[in-house]
Amino acid sequence: MSITQNILHLKNSIPPTVTLIAVSKTKPNAFILEAYETGHRHFGENYVQELADKYQQLPKDINWHFIGHLQSNKVKHIASFVYLIHGVDSFSLLKEINKQALKNNRVINCLLQIYIAQEETKFGLSFVEVETILNSTEFKELKNIAIKGFMAMASNTKNEEQIRKEFKLLNEFAKSFSSSHSSCSILSIGMSADYKIAIHEGSTMIRIGSSIFGERDYSM
Ligand SMILES: *Cc1c(COP(=O)(O)O)cnc(C)c1O
Repeated sequence: MSITQNILHLKNSIPPTVTLIAVSKTKPNAFILEAYETGHRHFGENYVQELADKYQQLPKDINWHFIGHLQSNKVKHIASFVYLIHGVDSFSLLKEINKQALKNNRVINCLLQIYIAQEETKFGLSFVEVETILNSTEFKELKNIAIKGFMAMASNTKNEEQIRKEFKLLNEFAKSFSSSHSSCSILSIGMSADYKIAIHEGSTMIRIGSSIFGERDYSM
């Protein structure tokens, strides 16, 4: 199937309450433009330099999501235009995003990345760390960031029950939070392999790469 068909098929098969992010990392601008021509405007990238280049080259009404691991010293390269930063996993990064947002005279929307997988390699905060950050007075002084919700990645496993369990736990935590912080309602969970489970477990944003653009070639 073509990119156009993939994207239309996906959009028709997910509930209207779920936002589809087309993850275009490593893919050329022509692929992104094909998706753009269908009316799609939400794209995700996870390398800072690649995102900054694509922002320069592509239509300015694209909503760019940064979904990768963000290093503090690189925030300045995307702060003027990024639509939503998904993977915030430390207070010091939040402070740097706030600082760069202030310089650009804007508020940057962020999701806190929560660690739910059973693997050592994934970035993210624990539930306790999230609560500590959000309840701190230092956090409340950051006026140029807005926490819109949470992002997570499930274990890289074929065991669907394990994935479901991880998403369910996260959703329970997120729900308990959004009842007191009503603007904190985004749940960014689900990739090509597990988005159906994620939607069933409360996802409001899915990040889909290979099912739209095909497999990635990391040798390039
Ligand atoms: C690459 C990536 C995706 C998309 O993965 P696919 O399996 O190709 O859908 C989603 N989220 C993050 C954080 C990624 O790095």
